[in-house]
Amino acid sequence: MSIPPLSQRNAASPLKKQQQRLQKSTLSPEDLCFKLPLKIVEYPDPVLRARNKRINTFDDGVKELVHEMFDIMYKTDGIGLSAPQVGINVQLMVFNAAGERGEGEEIVLVNPVIYKASKKTTLYNEGCLSFPGILADVQRPASVKIDARDITGAKFKVNLSGLPARVFQHEFDHLQGTLFFDRMSKDVLDSVRSELKALEKKYEERTGQPTPERVDDYEGIKISLDCNRNVKNSSKDLAAGYPWPPESPRHRLAKPTIEEGATEKGARVQPLRLKPRKENKRKREQERN
Ligand SMILES: [Zn+2]
Repeated sequence: MSIPPLSQRNAASPLKKQQQRLQKSTLSPEDLCFKLPLKIVEYPDPVLRARNKRINTFDDGVKELVHEMFDIMYKTDGIGLSAPQVGINVQLMVFNAAGERGEGEEIVLVNPVIYKASKKTTLYNEGCLSFPGILADVQRPASVKIDARDITGAKFKVNLSGLPARVFQHEFDHLQGTLFFDRMSKDVLDSVRSELKALEKKYEERTGQPTPERVDDYEGIKISLDCNRNVKNSSKDLAAGYPWPPESPRHRLAKPTIEEGATEKGARVQPLRLKPRKENKRKREQERN
């Protein structure tokens, strides 16, 4: 499978759209089956490009999956993880921008939808658990407004900016079958091309199957004028608001797919608070003393 430009990949005929809506609504118990321990699926496994179904039952199975996803996310030094990355094609993501159990805030988002994204975009050096060792700059809106359900199925809205917005958009992309290199500019993509090809080779050796996609079929995106507007050296901006070392090998988290009119009426608003990291707390205490 080649990687067509995003604009082509998103183009669907009315029939295809109808089929997609049908697929969306039918989640069978097998879709949520998983084997322990969970394992991180690496590029170019086709599971990362498969359609992810919406979750419509909020039972103990979903809760157990969430628990296991947080577990493997912390163990692999991630700060965000989507269900397809553990081989389960459902609309579910977990993240904790603090990256440590017991710190920050654990966020679970089920069937999330972005209904507004800022015009201002930022560049940030991202990594992905499904692309071990690869870090590269990706441009994304600085802030997003989201509708989602929590682990109990309750609807909520949340506004995200800074690192949480970055992590969310990266994981949200996974739920659309979009991978971070799909959003890299040509130059940036060229800088990691050999590493992506190495993953393709590793997949072929491990499975004995030809790679389902080749990065060499893809040139990288042309940054639109819109995207270039208001771009700042955002790693610094983000680091100021969220003390995250840009050189950290953690899972860090381009224009997202926005569904028009996706706001769910009557949803409650859940503010997202992130606790400051320890070293920051210490710094403030020192300043006070
Ligand atoms: Zn990822």
